[in-house]
Amino acid sequence: MANPSILILAGDGIGPEVMAEVKKIIGWFGTKRGVTFDVTEDLVGGCAYDAHGTPLTDATMAKAQEVDAVLLGAVGGPKYDVLDFSVKPERGLLRLRKEMDLFSNLRPAQCFDALADFSSLKKDVVAGLDIVIVRELTSGVYFGEPRGIFTEGNERVGINTQRYTESEIARVARSAFELARRRNNKVCSMEKANVMESGILWRQVVQEVHDKEYADVELTHMYADAGAMQLCRWPKQFDVIVTDNLFGDLLSDMAAMLTGSLGMLPSASLGLPMENGRPKALYEPVHGSAPDIAGQGKANPIACVLSFAMALRYSFDMGDEAARVEKAVEKVLADGVRTADLMGPEGGVPVSTSQMGDAIIAA
Ligand code: ATP
Ligand code: MG
Repeated sequence: MANPSILILAGDGIGPEVMAEVKKIIGWFGTKRGVTFDVTEDLVGGCAYDAHGTPLTDATMAKAQEVDAVLLGAVGGPKYDVLDFSVKPERGLLRLRKEMDLFSNLRPAQCFDALADFSSLKKDVVAGLDIVIVRELTSGVYFGEPRGIFTEGNERVGINTQRYTESEIARVARSAFELARRRNNKVCSMEKANVMESGILWRQVVQEVHDKEYADVELTHMYADAGAMQLCRWPKQFDVIVTDNLFGDLLSDMAAMLTGSLGMLPSASLGLPMENGRPKALYEPVHGSAPDIAGQGKANPIACVLSFAMALRYSFDMGDEAARVEKAVEKVLADGVRTADLMGPEGGVPVSTSQMGDAIIAA
């Protein structure tokens, strides 16, 4: 069988810095675990614009469609703020998401014990927290038509349309149920079926897909506002949460911050299965290009490293190897190794991006 293939798009700002640590780990898997990946690298974002006049070339796009997984760093930076909208670095990422049809966005919120004090919540509320929010990413109110700012009588009116088809709901529901089967067989679906027709349909379709195909998974429904409250009050009651684009945007940011620093948060965006059964997939840290610290060796690589762990689990069926990476991260944190973003008010000496990567490999 061919080696699993990865396309690395490190991008701009701290993207290449944090990705360098992932490349070390990929190398370690080859020499120490006999797990070899076919890795190619290419440009996305501002660096692609500098080289080719576009944030994503057709050739790179075609490569992304072929590989088993894309690993992305971050795109953008102040240098590119003046560019026309059509060639902005972020457009490169949007094109990838759209053409790969990555409709299911997985955002884990996991709290490492060593960082539980970082949360704004009480330690016992977040210690041991391990949940995943599945956000629908390609439809809903961010895309529905009609949209625009119109004139009605003698005033302006801003319009967006929340629109979901049955098949759009069903496919993201399946993605959440599949995830639940790999975890603890428990899904909570969130919408506003009390006030929105799209919410009524959402609840019906999620329930139907469940009853027909995933009756073994425990399914509950919750209104998204009540869900937000419960996420703050006692997040450990959840395991997998599935929700639409808008609510998922808000709920996943909120859940993420239960756990501490932006430098810790991975994500996966999945599409439909390819011929080999693997879902089209793009893995990236939640954080951006962080121009304020770029080029200084200060960035925390853990979000990018944990994104690679997600790739091992969801694209390559290597759950044990993924756990190996996650345990190593847990160990270095327990040992007190900290990049600057993880330093509390008590201070201390932070390690560099590359020292953090080395510590993870040693662990
Ligand atoms: P974008 O628009 O690309 O999402 P942003 O400005 O919203 O960018 P980030 O680029 O993620 O957000 O930066 C937000 C803040 O978090 C910055 O102060 C940045 O230095 C910090 N930050 C982000 N990622 C990391 C990281 N991996 N390690 C340390 N600090 C980080
Ligand atoms: Mg941002």
